[in-house]
Amino acid sequence: VPELPDVETVARRLRRALVGQRIRRVNVLTPPTIRSHAPASFARRLRGRTVKSVERRGKYLLIHLSGNLVLVAHLRMTGDFEVVAREENLHPSTRVIFAANAREVRFVDQRRFGHMDLVAQKDLSTFPGLRSLGIEPLSAEFTLSRLRELLQDRRGSVKSVLLRQDLIAGIGNIYADEILWQARLHPARAVDTLSAPQLRRLHRQIRRVLARATRLLSRYGSAVGDLLEVRERGGHCPRCGRRLAVETTAGRTTYYCPHCQRK
Ligand SMILES: [Zn+2]
Repeated sequence: VPELPDVETVARRLRRALVGQRIRRVNVLTPPTIRSHAPASFARRLRGRTVKSVERRGKYLLIHLSGNLVLVAHLRMTGDFEVVAREENLHPSTRVIFAANAREVRFVDQRRFGHMDLVAQKDLSTFPGLRSLGIEPLSAEFTLSRLRELLQDRRGSVKSVLLRQDLIAGIGNIYADEILWQARLHPARAVDTLSAPQLRRLHRQIRRVLARATRLLSRYGSAVGDLLEVRERGGHCPRCGRRLAVETTAGRTTYYCPHCQRK
């Protein structure tokens, strides 16, 4: 499931392929992917527009177009944008095709949960999903004192708080586990009991884990992290060698090391 590093990687790919390009043609192969318009109307509104910029916000992709329109896309479970030559064979899960010059940008989505909306620039700040998004963890504004403020008087486990998109945007199940393992914090630890050094470790690892994965993903193409590499294989802790525990925390399957991540 795509999280911040994955979506950021897609944003960079789209930026390189599309910024400054004019959209020549749009084919909607799977109409439910487009939520805001009927397929023909969606294609007509996009045709001829120039891509101004591509931005990521949380797990959303924002493609800014001429005429103050924004294409807002969410990859959900299996969505991805591929950039290919026009003559390239269609992947069977291709949902939408955007043709720009000799290349095509294709939205491929096996599970079909991904979606797109065409939104007027002025309506972006009230768009459901974007409206309530929390702080960007890789932004300069995400300081230790800001994290402390966010967690003040907050109830629940540290993992459940990391997953809340309205507090910190872009972290999902996989990277939450990686961050907590790196910070040596138990996922079920009550967030209002973290000591000052623990809070500092948490802040440092949120930034480090996400920045590192974002940097390396474009090169290696799959999830990047020390715990991530062993978790699915019933693995052992990369730090102490003991067997990882699997529990449900915050309603999600959670991997952690009972020795290194004590409550
Ligand atoms: Zn360990």
